[in-house]
Parts: sequence; C-alpha cells; structure tokens
Amino acid sequence: MTEPVHRVEVALPLPPDRTFTYEVEGPRAPVPGTRVLVPFRRTERVGWVVGPGSAEIRSVRRILSVLEEEPSIPPDLLRLCRWVSDYYAASLGLALRSAQPAILCDAARDYLIPLRDPAREVGPGAARVLEILRSGAGPKSIRALARLLGRRSIWPQIRALQAAGAVRHRTVPPREPRARVRKVVRMTRWLSSLSERESLFARSPRQRECYEVLEAAGGASELALLTRRGAFSSSVVRGLQEKGVISVTAEEVVRDPFRESAVTPEPRVTPNTAQQAALAAMAGALGAHQPRPFLLYGVTGSGKTLVYIELLEAVLARGQGAIVLVPEISLTPQTVARFRARFGDRIAVLHSALSDGERYDAWRQLRSGEKLIAVGARSAVFAPIPKLGALVIDEEHDGSYKQSETPRYHARDVAVMRAALTGSLCVLGSATPSLESWWNAARGKSTLLTLPSRATGQPLPPVQILDLRKQRRGGGSAGVSTKPAGHAGTVLAPPLEDAIRSRLHRREQVILLLNRRGFSNFVQCQECGDVRVCVHCSVSMTYHRVANRLLCHHCRHGEPAPTRCLRCGSRDLSFRGLGTEQVERVVAETFPGARIARMDVDTTSGKWAHHEILGRVGRGEVDILLGTQMIAKGLDFPRVTLVGVVNADVGLHLPDFRASERTFQLLSQVAGRAGRSELGGDVMIQTFLPEHYSIQSALSHDYEGFARRELSERRSPAYPPHVRLANVVVSSPNQEHAAGAAEMAVGWVRRSSLLGRGPTRVELVGPAPSPIERLHGRWRWHFFLRSSSPRELGRLCRALAFRFRPGSGDVRVAVDRDPTALL
Ligand code: ADP
Ligand code: ZN
Ligand code: ZN
Repeated sequence: MTEPVHRVEVALPLPPDRTFTYEVEGPRAPVPGTRVLVPFRRTERVGWVVGPGSAEIRSVRRILSVLEEEPSIPPDLLRLCRWVSDYYAASLGLALRSAQPAILCDAARDYLIPLRDPAREVGPGAARVLEILRSGAGPKSIRALARLLGRRSIWPQIRALQAAGAVRHRTVPPREPRARVRKVVRMTRWLSSLSERESLFARSPRQRECYEVLEAAGGASELALLTRRGAFSSSVVRGLQEKGVISVTAEEVVRDPFRESAVTPEPRVTPNTAQQAALAAMAGALGAHQPRPFLLYGVTGSGKTLVYIELLEAVLARGQGAIVLVPEISLTPQTVARFRARFGDRIAVLHSALSDGERYDAWRQLRSGEKLIAVGARSAVFAPIPKLGALVIDEEHDGSYKQSETPRYHARDVAVMRAALTGSLCVLGSATPSLESWWNAARGKSTLLTLPSRATGQPLPPVQILDLRKQRRGGGSAGVSTKPAGHAGTVLAPPLEDAIRSRLHRREQVILLLNRRGFSNFVQCQECGDVRVCVHCSVSMTYHRVANRLLCHHCRHGEPAPTRCLRCGSRDLSFRGLGTEQVERVVAETFPGARIARMDVDTTSGKWAHHEILGRVGRGEVDILLGTQMIAKGLDFPRVTLVGVVNADVGLHLPDFRASERTFQLLSQVAGRAGRSELGGDVMIQTFLPEHYSIQSALSHDYEGFARRELSERRSPAYPPHVRLANVVVSSPNQEHAAGAAEMAVGWVRRSSLLGRGPTRVELVGPAPSPIERLHGRWRWHFFLRSSSPRELGRLCRALAFRFRPGSGDVRVAVDRDPTALL
C-alpha cells in the first residue's frame, strides 16, 4: 500500500531568503508550521513547512521525517514570522528559528526509541540499527547511530523500522538531566574594611587574592572555578576556611531559583485613582476589535506593575493568556516575583539561565495552555500562547529589546505587530518612553495613559548637580595608593561624600552609578602618547585591577597589564578614565566600615550572581550598591535614600543620535531608585556638562521637556522618529575589501531604481567608516538609508539583503533596520 505524495515548501534556518520544495508521503500534507527533518546539501536540517510546494521543479528530495503531529508554529505565529522576515529583511527560516526554543531547531536532538519486534521484514541495515538500539541502554541519537554504522544517513532504515512499528522517533532528550552536585565556596564573613583585610591577610597575599576574586564573583563560586588551571591551590582555600571567612559545601545545583524560591503572597493593594483610570481604559479595550496600543507613561514608582497585574487578571478572567516582556530577567527579580506572587503556577518564567530542556518544558506548557502567562526577555514575544489576550512591554524604551543578530528585530515593535495580527491588546510601559513611542502617541497611533505621581505618595526625589569642573581633585582619591591609577580626578565630590557619610550613619542605603566597568578605561604612554588598543578592535583596552589584565570590552580579548609602552618602551604609563572597579576601591578607602557590593558584568558572570547581590541589598546586608546601568532598572528598595551618579557624561559623547536620549533615560531611571519610601531620598549627579539638556531635564524630572527638545534636535539632520532609518554595515577582515564592498553596495543602490523619487524617496548617506572602525577583527564601513516611507525603505532593505547575501567571499553585509545603536 503506498501513500499519496505531496509537495510542500519548507523554510530552513539559513541566510538565503528563499524556501525549498520537498516531497512527503502520507495521507495528507503536513500543515504549515509543522517541523520536518529534511536533507539539505550533505546534511540534515530541521525546517518548517510553510505552504504547498511548487509543482514546476522536476526532481525534488524527500522529507526525512515529519517531526510532530501538531505544528509547533501556530498560524498566528507563522504570520508574525513572515512579517519579521519581510520587515527586517531576514529569511523566513531564521525568523522562525528565533521564535522557537533552540532545542526544536537542532537536528542533533533526534532520538530513536526501540519499541517492539518489527511487524514485517525490514532488511539487514534496519535490523542492524534495531540491534544497536536494543543492546545499548535506552534511546540513541540518530547522529550517533549513523556514525556507529559509518553511514551518512540512516533514514531509509529508520523509515522501514517506523513502518514496521519497531521504533519511535523523538526530538528531545528523553530523560530529564540528572541533578548535579558541585562543591561551592561561599563567603561567610564579608570583610568590608581595608584595615580588617590587611590585618587578616598580612602574611598571606594569595589568600587575600582568592578572597577578592570570590568577592568580585558576588560572594560565591564553584570550587572548581577557583582552582581551575591552578589559579589557587587547595591549601589557599583551606587557609581561608580556617580563618572562618569562607565555607565549602556540596550543593545540588539549583536549576531555577524562580521555581525553588518560596512565593510570598503580597498584601493586596487597591489601585489608586490614576491606576484605576488607566485600567478602565485598558479593560474597555480588551474585547474591542483591533484595539490601539496603549502607552503607559508613569513616573518611576508610580505603580505600573500593579496596573499590569490587574490587567492580566482581567485577561485571564476572559479565558485568555498574556505575554509580559521585561528587559532582563536577572536584573528585575522583584518585578518577576510580584507577578509570581499573584499568579503562581499560571506563569512560565522564560529567563536566560534556563537550560535548553527547561526552556522547552516551559514552552510546551504555554503551548498546551497549561500555563497562561509568559514572562520573559526579548524572545518571549514569540511565546506560543493559544488565546493571546494582551502583551505587556515593561520598560519599553530599553535597548535590550533589540536583537543584535539576524533577524535584527525589536521586540516592542514585534509585540505591537503581534497584537495587531491577533486582535489583542498591547501595553507599552515606561517612565522614560522611547521617542518613537512618544511620537506614536502624539500622532494618535497609540493611546497615552499617564500615572503622574508615585503610588506611595512620595514626591520624586530632589536632584542636585555637582559640577565637576569646579571640584578640586581629591574626594576619596586624595590619599589613595592605587598603584597604576595615576590621577583619577574626582571620584566623589565633597557634597556627595558627605551625603554618603550621613546615610551610612543613619543605616540607610546608597546606590552609586558609573556606567563604565573596569578600573581605568585606557592606558596611555606619557612619553609617546600611545594608547593601548585591542588587537581585534579599534577600541582602547580597559585595565582590570583584580585580574591585573587589560580587557577589550567588545571582543573580550585580554592580555597581561603592561609595565612598559609597547611602542617606545617607556615605563611611564598612565592609567586613566574611571571605571567601577576603581570607584569601589576609592569608596572602600573613604568609608572603611561600609559594606559595598559591586554589580557589573565582571561581578555577575555566574548564573545567579545578580540574584545573590540584589538579595543581599534587599536583606540590608549592603550599605552601598555600586554598579553600571545594571543597577538602574526597576529596583525597588525602600531603604535607598541616596543615589549618586559618579560621572553622568559617560556615553554622552558617543557618535550616536541616541546618546542624549540614553543618557537622560539612564539618569532618570537611576534617580527613580531613590526615595521610594517615607524615608525620602536625594539624587546627586556629577558632571562636566551641567548645562546639557539631558542632564538639565533629569534634574527637574522633566521627561516631556526632554522629549520636546530631543524631537526638535532630530529634525535636521532627520533622525527617527521623524524618518525611518536603516544602518547597513559592510565588514571584512581585510580593510580594502570592506571599503571597496561598501562603495560597491552604495553604487549598486544608486544605480538601481530603488531609491525612488518624490516624498517616499529613500535617501542614502555615506558610506563612511563605522564609528568603531574595527570590531572582532573585521573592518567596518557603513551607510544609512532613510525615508519617510517604511514601505519603500523595506523594499530597498530586502533588495540589498538579497543582492549582498552571504556568499563565498569574506565580506558581510548586515542590514539593521530601525537600529538602536550605530557603533
Ligand atoms: P514602577 O514600576 O512604576 O516604577 P512599581 O510598580 O515598582 O512602580 O511600584 C512602586 C511601589 O509602589 C511598589 O512598592 C508598589 O508596591 C507600590 N504601589 C503600587 N501601587 C500602589 C497603590 N495603589 N497603593 C500603594 N502602594 C502602591
Ligand atoms: Zn610610548
Ligand atoms: Zn576587541
């Protein structure tokens, strides 16, 4: 008995923007959205059926296996992915891949499970496969089986076995990974003061180093990491144990603290008048046909989270599900905890630390409707919610919503599109909305809802500006013997230093922001002026003191800290440009008794490091929390009564049209961490540019004034939101190739008729070397395309992406539509 053969079109997660025709045997063709395994060139790949195949092609290869009964991509998601593919000029397959857990796209995850004796003759090859399957313990991956048999493909055999009912095919690891146990070193005593350290470690510098490494890692580390490659011997660790500052224990590896941690139900609070008004507007739109998106503009601490939660209740009451996007889960544990406190098991938290298997589990529970709300970062916008009622995008202005690789989508914009395609409600929330969203609200494309004051009744904290031009050098750094520090300039101006002191005295907490990590962000020779630059990137290397190394913050290249200039050999090196590591040191020396926690990329490499640090702050075990932009997002600690910005100007000079916007957002957001309870609070901002409107607007908590000014700054030359922009980056390991290819691409665009004319014309600016001319060893040129017509711009982007798709050469062309960063 033979089954009918169907032709289907399959999208593969590969760069070329096309789909491929395959044949499949069966009673009916698999429906669009179904995953299939297909032969492609010399390999096997997972792809998605996206429609009926072409009848014109003469010889077509056959699908190896239909991987699922129910399509993993439901129709609404398939439509959304088509939009992503079109809009961002990426292939449909790559868009589909970013919408699914990684595990579902990995051909190496295919397993065979032996079932029973074949019901009919299967041939010697197939019999051999079955024999191997039965001799081993449990199922085997198909890749491994093929390797054992020395064949490229064993699919004919598998099909024979399947037809005979002898094996089953699965696409995920069949077993839960076993619990892992590891040895963990934990700090049991925090030595906050330098004098304490000096006396305890007077004769054991290695122990001190080890202690400081552990401290920098957030107070806990796997033992194996500390002793790896002989970094520290076991006697050093034992020494620390004997001094009683650390403990070493065997612990089960906690997979998911969101799952393990006890959920403490929060006391229910009644929404205030402003919250109720916002809720009423949203609830009214819930059943509407094609509701417009809402922009929830609420100052820091205005209680946006409660509005989201009450809205979700209304969505669930209608029998629907929802998606909540947060910038970075690890940085917003409090927000996530509040959602869990209200909705408990009905929520799936899709955070970055989930293993592939756990992520898949969560995805499946959402797909089946077992869980109704997905909370996650960027990619959760694709969560498979069967009856989607609402999408909430918290901190919608946040840069992390933009994906930096193909497809370069912006999760906020995808969310708005998904809402439009499914007729669900979309809520964008922020205290500092992106200018795009603000502009959309101003033009009536979305509905503005405002929460004008803090929910607790506290005023926004007063902000004071400290003009660094007037400060005498000193502050904390006066008597500091940080060896290669050179002059650090002012770290803490006297008023800030005094303010910190008074908080310490009152047992209140302080947040200090400096958006630059490391100790010194460049090293310059005093003789010849040479600045140490990364060998792969055209950026200066940052000195990290704990590691005593120079690191590139773009490609992570590292080298030992230099003792002399590589160009002229001089020993007169100056280490300049303040980073968090140096601030930590100065603060520790200025306030010897204070308990300090530093939070930046260097101290949060462990999966749960953020959790650990923020937990300590919450329990009152930290007096001063110091860090980069990580500490500016959504934290709600009532005992924080002072926020200090060590240098507001970091980032203001970047050659990027969003530099002012980002600075204003960062300052407003971090200021919003102060004075959230009846204890009140103050904000102090140190700057060399006190007149700059980003800083002036932050001073008066004047988002609207900032937006007005910034919108007018972006009129000429025209930048978003007044026009649509695409940044095309042409790169190559070879400098001439990059420049030549950029010129060629520009020439091609100019000659084509794609620029159009009239009001929908696309304007081309460039080419020029990118602000960061070299990155990861590739030379980079770029040019802009801008237009008032999204349609025309999109057409050109797709044409460019197709014409300059990855080929055999070393040149890459990346089309970044609606870029958030131009570096
Ligand atoms: P936002 O996200 O807007 O910065 P949050 O949602 O974190 O603000 O709320 C700030 C604080 O106000 C939280 O501690 C929250 O519990 C509290 N809060 C929110 N709504 C109310 C309310 N209606 N009455 C009292 N307190 C509230
Ligand atoms: Zn030199
Ligand atoms: Zn580099």
